[in-house]
Amino acid sequence: NKIPNSLHASDIAHSMHPYTNMRLHEEQGPMIITRGEGVHVYDSEGKEYIEGLAGLWSVAVGFSQPRLVEAAAKQMAELPYYHSFAHKAHEPSIRLAEKLAEMTPEGMDRVFFTNSGSEANDTVIKMVWFYNNALGRPEKKKFLARNKGYHGITIASGSLTGLPANHKDFDLPAIPVTHLTCPHYWKWAEDGETEAEFTARLLKEAEDTILSEGPETIAAFIGEPVMGAGGVMTPPEGYWPGIRALCDKYDILLVSDEVINGFGRCGTPFGCQKYGFTPDIMVTSKQLTSSYMPLAAIIVNDKVYNTIADHTAKLGTFGHGFTGSGHPVACAVGLENLKIIEEQDLMGNAARLEAKFQEGLRKFADHPLVGEVRGVGLIGGIELAKDKEKRLSFEPAGKVAPQVVKFCAEEGLILRAVYETVALCPPLIVTEEDIDQILARLGRALDRGWEWVQAEGLA
Ligand code: PMP
Repeated sequence: NKIPNSLHASDIAHSMHPYTNMRLHEEQGPMIITRGEGVHVYDSEGKEYIEGLAGLWSVAVGFSQPRLVEAAAKQMAELPYYHSFAHKAHEPSIRLAEKLAEMTPEGMDRVFFTNSGSEANDTVIKMVWFYNNALGRPEKKKFLARNKGYHGITIASGSLTGLPANHKDFDLPAIPVTHLTCPHYWKWAEDGETEAEFTARLLKEAEDTILSEGPETIAAFIGEPVMGAGGVMTPPEGYWPGIRALCDKYDILLVSDEVINGFGRCGTPFGCQKYGFTPDIMVTSKQLTSSYMPLAAIIVNDKVYNTIADHTAKLGTFGHGFTGSGHPVACAVGLENLKIIEEQDLMGNAARLEAKFQEGLRKFADHPLVGEVRGVGLIGGIELAKDKEKRLSFEPAGKVAPQVVKFCAEEGLILRAVYETVALCPPLIVTEEDIDQILARLGRALDRGWEWVQAEGLA
């Protein structure tokens, strides 16, 4: 990687990077992105890339959208900061909460803001515990989550996350949580098992877990409708309605983590709608502001809200909140961002381009490097495999997918390797031509990856 003229190697030696092999990073240095426009970003040498992951699954309206710049500047000038503690408020957070209540499923009308998805899920854990304490059942505190799920990185939200790298040597999980089988048919089905049998087995596993641990101890089930950061896993048919039914049967709150799925990504406004279930609690972030500002929103249904609110009337307060909860600049940007999504019908764009994008990706299913292609709407994953039939990954783990992602960057496409999967999640503003470009660049990178795998003796 080249360092731009304005920076010296010694200048960049001070930053520690998330999700990075720090020693390798010291040798290689970072790729420095200097500007973005629409679906494109540019590095310090002026090379253009399509941002095929929308940053981190975030930038719905594209980079450098002038309306968001203006909304932020206007709010900065007018009221750069105020908080929402103790009966105070400001218009941007009121308006954004109103907008979210309007967009989310019926009966989900109360919104609480945090600064990140992780904080939002931490807040959800506290809300769920507070809720059960309010109902006089302090033993009902455990969470059910899934292997490969991603719900954040703090001590509590990171405990819900079901990825080994986020637990190992961080001494997690630190809250009571049971991780169930990842609902990914291709990888986790037993030999000869049909998709319907796989769904039934996972639902039985969930119910057996509830019964063996005791329904009186299980507070909530949390999941992403489509798993994102674990490798873009779409659920098998019938899975989510089955989970909803179990939650109803055992009085367990259902939390839909829509941080990646929300705002049109899956071809419906929210991922839960794609899979036919209504949660009790939804968590949104990322595309909420196109990540121009850090912001997350928890939306709860009337049952959860009223129980919590009644309890605060007894206790005197809901003792939780952040200095930046509902930050006015973040909310003003979020509101303008959602207006753009509506006015430009970007959720409709995702739905319209779904077939082209998904069919285009599935053309790689027979590529010698590819095990499975999956996705919905404008999110996709290409899982690489050494042996497609036996569903065997390349060894050593974590080598081939990052190399393909490197080839993608050389071809002018930024994607991300999540374990053995190359993830795609382009900005919602993509056009048909952009999709053609993404597929062409990806195809060249896969071909180069195959040559490389053979040369390295990994095939
Ligand atoms: N939930 C999901 C589904 C996510 O994908 C993420 C972030 N990738 C989070 C929660 C955590 O959000 P943040 O990084 O803003 O803390």
